Amino acid sequence: MSQSTGIIRDDLYKEHLADYPHPESPQRLEAIYDMLDSDDIGKRLLLISPRSATHDELAWIHSRSYIERVALTDGVSHMSLDPDTQTTPLSYKAAILAAGGLFSLIDKIFDGTVRNGFALVRPPGHHAERDRAMGFCLFNNVALAAMYAHHKYSIKRTLIVDWDLHHGNATQHSFYTDPKVLYFSTHQYPYYPGSGGLTEVGHGDGTGYTVNVPLSAGQGDSEFFAVFKQILCPIASAFKPELVLVSAGFDTYAGDPLGSMKVTPQGFAALTRVLMDIAGEYASDRLAMTLEGGYNLTGLRDSVRAVLKELMQESILTDSDLQTLESGTAPPIVDKVIQVQRSYWAAL
Ligand SMILES: [Zn+2]
Repeated sequence: MSQSTGIIRDDLYKEHLADYPHPESPQRLEAIYDMLDSDDIGKRLLLISPRSATHDELAWIHSRSYIERVALTDGVSHMSLDPDTQTTPLSYKAAILAAGGLFSLIDKIFDGTVRNGFALVRPPGHHAERDRAMGFCLFNNVALAAMYAHHKYSIKRTLIVDWDLHHGNATQHSFYTDPKVLYFSTHQYPYYPGSGGLTEVGHGDGTGYTVNVPLSAGQGDSEFFAVFKQILCPIASAFKPELVLVSAGFDTYAGDPLGSMKVTPQGFAALTRVLMDIAGEYASDRLAMTLEGGYNLTGLRDSVRAVLKELMQESILTDSDLQTLESGTAPPIVDKVIQVQRSYWAAL
């Protein structure tokens, strides 16, 4: 088993919305890539070349008519697919390389080249519905990755953890009736996109395989840590995922212009450690993260660095950081989530 951590990066990801004013800007990846080039951790990460997702692969999650609609933006100077979601000439190519980049990372995890990794891609994905672009997202990268692992590696239980500030409406919808994928989301609520209420738990065979933790504004490291420890860990130990995927958004960072949470780089590192423990216990360490939101460039850079350090087992966390995290109190919503989810998860 390899001990290394892989990253997906490519300059094409910076071409989406190049020279177009938007909070989901190329400068986000520039801040991360510049950090990797100037920091010695960049040299110790394995750079994996991304490939593009095919239309047949995109059709696991999206309708053919929607895929065609996005493909038609290729080379077009500017299109608006949704009030928040625009394209520029290379957006379509960047979007299929974002989804496919996650497939390339998963291949390297399954062939043992790396033990885990982070797809540093854009556009993000978790709001992209079957039939429409939404919330800065074109194709649902993380949902497509779960389908890829299922089709290529016969994975029957994938855990998707979504710690972005916003609820991943489209990831939830993609697997709402599907027990192969357990979707766990922490998000500010009520807030954009409006979904992610406590009682949205899945439907039919998927009942209990959607776990929403709707949080009030102002939660920080210890509250998120308590949510992960008290809700996610018991459920994951019962579900026993064969693969852990993460919609890693950094708009919960303290100081993000879009959100009102208070998570710090240490907090993201601690959440990563919890996920690595779950992946180590049940999934042979298989853990793949993909970038979603995060709009404070300094916060994004420092938080991604902390997460990468954790993935590389070079943690920035001190014993006193961990003591502070462990001694925090859980937000009141934790009891309410447990009451709802206890019907499906006896371990709670
Ligand atoms: Zn977000």
